[in-house]
Amino acid sequence: MIKTNLKKDKAQAPTPQEPRIVSKTNEEWKQELTKEQYEVCRLKGTEYPFTGEYWNCKEDGIYRCVCCGNELFDSETKFDSGTGWPSFWAPINPHNLDLKLDTSYGMRRIEVLCNKCGAHLGHLFDDGPHPTGKRFCINSVSLELKKAEEKNMKYIEEVDERGERKEQQKGRGL
Ligand SMILES: [Zn+2]
Repeated sequence: MIKTNLKKDKAQAPTPQEPRIVSKTNEEWKQELTKEQYEVCRLKGTEYPFTGEYWNCKEDGIYRCVCCGNELFDSETKFDSGTGWPSFWAPINPHNLDLKLDTSYGMRRIEVLCNKCGAHLGHLFDDGPHPTGKRFCINSVSLELKKAEEKNMKYIEEVDERGERKEQQKGRGL
């Protein structure tokens, strides 16, 4: 007599470190994104400074990955870096980003990617303002601002020294 054993399969247990959730081929991305979004996010391009939608944007809200909607940066951490690219001193959650050493163009830079879909976002530098000293230099085209419609979001009483670092950061690229 054959017993059927219907024990639950242990393989279904969630893995602690989830891999990228959104995985698409380049062809699929090409169809979903605009030409510029595709070139920056999937081919690691860089938009021209002072041309993007958000470099000078001061609206409140959450900046999300244009490819997959992953929440990346809060407008509260955005500051005017003078570079012509949207700049933030901290991500919403470090786990939403992936950081990689990038040695292209003979430079040693830290590349910033979306941890969910692998989109190239920009680079990370150590010359940001208080309180982290970090500068996440991000392409506008890789972001989508979800504006805060009502002031029911958390607000931090912190008017920092925005703008003070303008001079030192002039001319630095992504
Ligand atoms: Zn993404």
